[in-house]
Amino acid sequence: MEYGPSVEDASAVREWLKARGPFGHFIGGSFTKPAESFDSIDPARSEVLAQVSQGSAKDVARAVRAARKAQPGWAALGGHERARFLYAIARTIQKRERFLSVLETLDNGKPLRESRDIDVPLVVRHFYHHAGWAELRDSEFPGHAPLGVCGQIIPWNFPLLMLAWKVAPALAAGNTVVLKPAEYTSLTALAFAEICQQVGLPAGVVNIVTGDGATGAALVAAEVDKIAFTGSTEVGRQIARTLAGTSQRLTLELGGKSPFVVMDDADLDAAVEGVVDSIWFNQGQVCCAGSRILVAEAVADRFEHLLQMRMAKLRVGPPLDKSTDVGAIVHPVQKQRIAQICAAAVAAGAELVGGAEGQGCFIAPGYLRNIAPGNPGMTEEIFGPIATLSTFRTPDEAADLANSTHYGLAASVWSESATVATDMAARIKAGVVWVNSANLFDAAAPFGGVRDSGYGREGGHEGMLDYLRAPAMKPGRDSTPA
Ligand code: NAD
Repeated sequence: MEYGPSVEDASAVREWLKARGPFGHFIGGSFTKPAESFDSIDPARSEVLAQVSQGSAKDVARAVRAARKAQPGWAALGGHERARFLYAIARTIQKRERFLSVLETLDNGKPLRESRDIDVPLVVRHFYHHAGWAELRDSEFPGHAPLGVCGQIIPWNFPLLMLAWKVAPALAAGNTVVLKPAEYTSLTALAFAEICQQVGLPAGVVNIVTGDGATGAALVAAEVDKIAFTGSTEVGRQIARTLAGTSQRLTLELGGKSPFVVMDDADLDAAVEGVVDSIWFNQGQVCCAGSRILVAEAVADRFEHLLQMRMAKLRVGPPLDKSTDVGAIVHPVQKQRIAQICAAAVAAGAELVGGAEGQGCFIAPGYLRNIAPGNPGMTEEIFGPIATLSTFRTPDEAADLANSTHYGLAASVWSESATVATDMAARIKAGVVWVNSANLFDAAAPFGGVRDSGYGREGGHEGMLDYLRAPAMKPGRDSTPA
């Protein structure tokens, strides 16, 4: 793939990787010596970027001990001091915005425009926002206490942003953390560890152990007070089974197959732009992607025509090129998985428009049409830039179709009538429903799923509650002493 003149210079990041790698874990405020390690690749060029350590159960136990030791001191610092640290982290990330976005793009394959304009700014906002919650913890949550040590396991689709969603509220509440990034994308978490050192965060407050699912499983089995997991529904279920019968807290942010409902009075140009933001953003590797487009039959032909015209204009290309709209899929394994589901969908009678496979990890945006309800393309989370397109005749049918999966993470409704839009939104079973918009996030707005998409919330007041223990009930006039 050719790199043109609008390609971001990645030399500073490459120098950093050379100087700092191979990477150990970040435990108790310093990096361990790298031991058994694996390659982290740039999926756009199929090049090795760095070696990252495979965390063992021993490494996890060491990290948990470091976090346990640091926790009372961190909690005792008080909200104001914790806020100062969160603020310093936010400010430092802001200063290193360019470096971090290039690193994220190299490691993940997402277009630089997205890592620079979406991922990293949202990370910064998350830390600033939670500096506020650290200050307000005692007044807003009187009598609440931190949980202790939190184990946090994150996926590869928004590596630094998922870290921020986990680490910021945990620290604001007075917990310490052991975080395991996804094996495909550990590098921004390791750069974040450096930032923790740089701002003088007390040793052991943040610990990062890299590795694969086995490292994650070791963290789940460790002596932690909470596991916060974002990833597949399958692994989430496994973790829930492991923790059943223990006193550990668990929050799960899992998969989705979110409906994108276009009513007959929708602004179709805006809705098409919504599709771009919804399923073609981040190569469709978005848990809340509007992957099932449902369009009112009366406007379906016009909508599809506009959709095809817009799709043809999207530029698939090198992620570091600032004019690229669609970058690389995170890993060859994921590309293969997407291609397999599409092939199964076509074999079951659907028609694939676009979606051509390129060299390496590239897949062009596309959608499946003429698709029956039980088709695998309709039921499986594709987690790639391929939507499904089907039609409905009445709002009842739209609501039935929207709710016809076991997931319930997000939904998007398009209509020029506030009544039509809010009526439909209220009927859809999902953690979040966007109206005339898609994939909008804010640190103050709690995000999370219902049904098989998980439980617990991240962001805002609700998100803080998931990192706090409520005060014990004191026997009083209206309660019976135990
Ligand atoms: P995954 O479940 O395979 O991996 C997620 C994380 O869990 C990784 O860090 C992985 O190493 C770890 N892991 C794997 N097996 C484990 C085990 N047995 N015990 C503990 N940890 C284990 O998912 P993925 O392929 O990395 O991510 C894609 C999935 O994540 C999709 O289904 C997507 O919808 C979901 N996701 C959900 C959200 C959300 O907010 N709801 C956000 C992003 C991704």
